[in-house]
Amino acid sequence: MSVELSFAFPLHIVVDTDLQNLGRELWNWQLCGKCNGSASCANMHCPWSRGKRLGRFWTWYKGITGMYVPELFCLNPALRSHSDLLGIIRLMKTHPDAPRVHLTQQYFANRDDAAIKIPDPTDQLRAFNIAARVLLMVNCGLSHESIEILEYAQLPRPWRNDMSISQFVIEIFPTSNHPYFEDLSELSDNLAIRKAVAASSLKKRANLRLEPTDDLRNHLRLDRKQGTVQIFHQTAVLKESLIAGHALHPASTISDYICRYVC
Ligand SMILES: [Zn+2]
Repeated sequence: MSVELSFAFPLHIVVDTDLQNLGRELWNWQLCGKCNGSASCANMHCPWSRGKRLGRFWTWYKGITGMYVPELFCLNPALRSHSDLLGIIRLMKTHPDAPRVHLTQQYFANRDDAAIKIPDPTDQLRAFNIAARVLLMVNCGLSHESIEILEYAQLPRPWRNDMSISQFVIEIFPTSNHPYFEDLSELSDNLAIRKAVAASSLKKRANLRLEPTDDLRNHLRLDRKQGTVQIFHQTAVLKESLIAGHALHPASTISDYICRYVC
């Protein structure tokens, strides 16, 4: 890659080590120690042996990060490498109740280049939006940064500065009692509901066209006019979250919820 391209798109190149480190950060992967930097692993007990199944997710990650462009003429990008992005994700996971503004200040004030120059505030914002998107599989960017607004005429829900990532998750995935479901406490009723909203049933019985989405928030989103329903298709990600079973992942309970329908 040319120097100019690496300057304009600092995360454009993704190697297997970056993907392994992403797995370590998202799902607490403990690799066998013999496959570091390799394309695959033959040890079935090593999480990297499942790397191929996550191909769709790796492609999505490469697309999201490859498009990252620092502020014009900015000498110090908020994301200099994939390691920077993973550092922000780690901070979010270890401080789920800290307001976004505090996390942002803490991260950039403590980084090894803080004494030289703090990245532009807009660039800082962009870096945290990308990190939250990778962690939660939800687009939380500002409207003017989003492609989805053009494609689906739908505004992403921004993660506000005064809000922690835990609060953000609660806001985008609110839970409330529905009068129809209150009486359905029997196991058979719950199974019937799951069966009714399963992707195959929606397609056959409701005659809906299924559209894949990478945004968890859009799972089962119905468009009556178009006769479509969106289905979250990063199922390998949900399975990894369930395998990890870790409480630190703010979206783990959401993944568990969605996985009932799509796994
Ligand atoms: Zn291995």
